[in-house]
Amino acid sequence: MEEIKNVEIKQPTSIEENSNGVEELDQAAISKMSYVEQDSYFYNISEGELNLEDGINCPICRNKGFISYVENNHEKVKNCTCMKRRKLYRRFLDTGISKDQFKRYTLENYKADNEIQKYCLEKAINYSNDVAKDKKSYWLYIGGESGTGKTHLCTGIITRLLNSDYEVKYFVWNTEIPSLINQRKSFYQEEQDNYRKRIKEIKECQVLYIDDFLQLDIETKESLSVAYEIINSRYTDDSKITIISSEVTAEKLYELSKALCGRIFEKTNKGNYVITYNDPKDNYRMKKGE
Ligand SMILES: [Zn+2]
Repeated sequence: MEEIKNVEIKQPTSIEENSNGVEELDQAAISKMSYVEQDSYFYNISEGELNLEDGINCPICRNKGFISYVENNHEKVKNCTCMKRRKLYRRFLDTGISKDQFKRYTLENYKADNEIQKYCLEKAINYSNDVAKDKKSYWLYIGGESGTGKTHLCTGIITRLLNSDYEVKYFVWNTEIPSLINQRKSFYQEEQDNYRKRIKEIKECQVLYIDDFLQLDIETKESLSVAYEIINSRYTDDSKITIISSEVTAEKLYELSKALCGRIFEKTNKGNYVITYNDPKDNYRMKKGE
């Protein structure tokens, strides 16, 4: 598991600046400045409020995001270095995954106590390296019973993808699907438009993380049809990445829908990134793509 150490994981809220920021001057020093320099100085010592939103405290720009400077007797502004981290924080927030979940579940703190867990962690690390570092558009499918650490591994992978500039959307299948189906079959044009708008976002986001895909006891023809619409659209676009966590094992998925199964397996580097366990304690099997 040496690879872990080589990957830098940046937690969005725990970064402190080393710099002391703008030095405050006394009245005598300020009076020696030109008016333009004074404007610039007073701007730089004024306090912004970006930290209230993202918790990132930056003494350089004092949480305004901009730094003023004087060039050829004109005041100019540039982005502060903290803006990069603020944008990253925003990306984490925009996924819809809670801050707490990101903190709790990293690949670094995943405890691999048995052979299956070691195997899964290794797959997760290889996968995040392939996608985050080598920019391959592989998909990932983790299937198996709850309590096997699927959410933990997926969240850890998502963290790495976000740190590598990917934009991620989080889609919880069983909470979102019922309303999507209702909108889809509604007689009202407005509802159908809402369906199309939502489904477009899901189809077009760069990385889609689907949690609890095709929960078995509520599965219907309609939800399978929505699943096919989403998966097929993303399948035909080589730039899209889909990460799927599900209680449905690969074998079961094959029984449910060969069309879905075939597309997912092809995208998971021909089944290389399908992780599926039947008994979380001592039994796991890999289903190779066919
Ligand atoms: Zn700053």
